[in-house]
Amino acid sequence: MIVLKFGGTSVASAERIKEVAEIVSGIYKKDKKVAAVFSAFGGVTDDLIATGRLAGERKMEYLKVYDKIKLRHIHAVRELKLSKDKELQKFLDSAFVELHDLLHGVFLVRELSLRTLDFISGFGELLSTRIIASYFASKKMPGAFLDAKQYIKTDENFGSAHVDFRVTNKNIQDYFRKFSGIACITGFISSTSKGEATTLGRGGSDYTAAIFGAALHADEIQIWTDVDGVMTADPRKVKKAFTVSSMTYEEAMEMSHFGAKVIHPPTIQPALEKGIPLWIKNTFNPSHYGTLISTKATDQQFMIKGISSIDEVALLTLQGSGMVGVAGISARLFGALSQSKVNVILITQGSSEHTISFAVKPADAIIAKKAIEEAFDLEMKAHLIEKVRVEDNLSIVAVIGENMRNTPGVSGRLFQSFGKNGISAVATAQGSSELNISVVIHRADLNKALNALHQAFFLSDIKTLNVFMIGVGLIGSTLLKQIEKQSGHLKKSRSLEINLVAVSNSKKMFFDEKGISPRNYKDTLEKSGESMSVSAFIKKMTQLNLPQSIFVDNTSSEDVVKHYQVVLDHSISIVTPNKIANSGKFKDYEKLRDTSRKKNVRFLYETNVGAGLPVIGTLKDLLTSGDTILKIEAVLSGTLSFIFNNFKTGTKFSDIVHEAHKRGYTEPDPRVDLSGMDVARKLLILSRETGLNIEMNDIVIEQLLPVNCRKAKTVSDFFAELEKSNDFFDAMRKKADEKKKVLRFIAQLENNNATISLQEVDTNHPFYNLSGSDNIISYTTERYHERPLVVKGPGAGAEVTAAGVFAEIISIGNYFE
Ligand code: ADP
Ligand code: ASP
Ligand code: MG
Repeated sequence: MIVLKFGGTSVASAERIKEVAEIVSGIYKKDKKVAAVFSAFGGVTDDLIATGRLAGERKMEYLKVYDKIKLRHIHAVRELKLSKDKELQKFLDSAFVELHDLLHGVFLVRELSLRTLDFISGFGELLSTRIIASYFASKKMPGAFLDAKQYIKTDENFGSAHVDFRVTNKNIQDYFRKFSGIACITGFISSTSKGEATTLGRGGSDYTAAIFGAALHADEIQIWTDVDGVMTADPRKVKKAFTVSSMTYEEAMEMSHFGAKVIHPPTIQPALEKGIPLWIKNTFNPSHYGTLISTKATDQQFMIKGISSIDEVALLTLQGSGMVGVAGISARLFGALSQSKVNVILITQGSSEHTISFAVKPADAIIAKKAIEEAFDLEMKAHLIEKVRVEDNLSIVAVIGENMRNTPGVSGRLFQSFGKNGISAVATAQGSSELNISVVIHRADLNKALNALHQAFFLSDIKTLNVFMIGVGLIGSTLLKQIEKQSGHLKKSRSLEINLVAVSNSKKMFFDEKGISPRNYKDTLEKSGESMSVSAFIKKMTQLNLPQSIFVDNTSSEDVVKHYQVVLDHSISIVTPNKIANSGKFKDYEKLRDTSRKKNVRFLYETNVGAGLPVIGTLKDLLTSGDTILKIEAVLSGTLSFIFNNFKTGTKFSDIVHEAHKRGYTEPDPRVDLSGMDVARKLLILSRETGLNIEMNDIVIEQLLPVNCRKAKTVSDFFAELEKSNDFFDAMRKKADEKKKVLRFIAQLENNNATISLQEVDTNHPFYNLSGSDNIISYTTERYHERPLVVKGPGAGAEVTAAGVFAEIISIGNYFE
């Protein structure tokens, strides 16, 4: 015999009920004796509880909710074409009269006891199951209606009653002895020996199925729901969760105790005791295999089976010197809690015996604190034990699986993934059965923790980097093109996936946790983007709190840089070609680095100097490998490089600047380049990388332009003045020519002095031969003394800069291995 159970969403509408009928009839064809348990129509139990509460608070709105419930059922009857079923009509009429009277009574006495609430909240199952039984009959399926109140007998623990299995099993067995057909059974509801209505707790219809299954020694219990089975994590919180094909009863029990709503926790026990296979299957996708819960799990591909969470807990801590070496402290502590009916979710004790911490539901925290403080009153008065400390706004995440017993390194992987994502553990506990490791964390980190763990345990073969990108100008749009082009290759050869979660230009921003196509980002921004503000962008990004998050700033905006500190504080890495953060005040520069170290996140900016050339990386490598920098010399401006490489005999300096301007090589006002400010920023960054505490105005810049050019009011005035100054530049060039030298605009760091000046270099100098807009950086170090280490190549341009940014994003992927 097979026992089936269909949850609220599976019977939420007439359409769904028709599909359920198909499934049940398929099973009935093979097996002439079927027990099918039904929940209330999805949402009805919530509505029943709401109407009861409103009535208890003497609010007339209770009638509105009552009407809504009634209409919903009348509508279903009509849709299922059962309006002519007199028996059904009679049943529903009398049920609604009863419910109405009950609510009216609650309204009059202004009190809703747990006892009455159980009565009210159980109506949903009565109504749904009765309607479904009639529908089956109308389809020539022999559906018999069973009110489980007459069979499942419980104590008087209203709200979550305990089953008297001796009586219950007998009742069920007696009924089914003579039965054949499809028994349509109300889930969730039961009654006391006196006949008073009780319930098995929210979500309890699963349990009803297990109770019937165990009593009848069923061949299988099938729980039909709205997902493909038990998944590796709650799919509402972890988008990449996937179905687990098999698990043991113990694993399923741990998953459900730790919050996996897909199975109601007590459901497993009766099935386990009788060794009945328990299936979780999807009504919306009946052909899917689902999850098989039994004594053996064949599915051992991963270190763990799943990740669960209890979203809201409080942590209480008892501590004091009076606890060390004293026997019976925990017995008294947990005795006091048990007397106050407080359920303890997790316990940890430090080996010093100085503290015991335990987690409870937030609603129990105050009761627990009071009970313990009463129990330890004497010790507290004598200051041997401190007052109970209560920490709130916490959650528990648990990794679960029997395979943990045989696999070392599970907690290592867990904490490593927490560390890399800046999640701190408030308390941890591991059961001695090694079936689960639970960690108490701050609730704000819950989403990130679940996703980070999921990535670490289940998707380690593919790493996902969540990218938030501000700025889709020349560099940003080129970067997106590169990402799009490389994504297949990255996945294949590097097992890396770039998930573009957010993108913005100066006007609009768009977020999608599931990922934005880099190909269509323009359309997406245009059509679906909301209006852009940097603070809103940052707020949204930090609130999403995704693991492996990377913030990419492709702007040159100071406004964005102001938020870097907050970004790093939230354990989000930064990759940027924007130089402003690193060339601002030293104090701010240092603080960003401090935060990145403390939070263990990356702050990467290789493209600040020399675009995609490995300038900063090379310098860092030299330093970390123990070399000492003696001198850095560099041509750091592509623009100035272009100008001086082309300034040869027969050319006019002003013409070349004009040409560079025309080609877009210069800033709109070429004086920004010619003043050496941009070069100074880069030299400042390089100097700081060597460990120098230096500010912008410590850099000595020898001015290239004569005063008249510098003072010109507009850009065209400047060009006019530049024309007039050609002789001045010609003279400089001639002087160099005569010595067979060329002019180079060189940034230099030596003996802690940073200077920028126009210099003459001879043919032996590595800077003599430069072409186009090349940058060149030469490091003279203790190791590279005779001949300096030189990095040379194109130091500007969208392609190479974007490629540099891209490379750093990928390098963060390696870090998350
Ligand atoms: P039903 O009404 O069928 O009893 P529930 O809503 O009680 O359905 O349970 C199914 C829901 O449980 C799923 O829709 C899913 O959102 C949630 N859920 C939470 N954790 C898990 C998990 N680990 N695996 C599958 N579903 C889960
Ligand atoms: N209808 C009940 C509830 O919503 C029982 C169940 O669906 O399992 O809690
Ligand atoms: Mg459920």
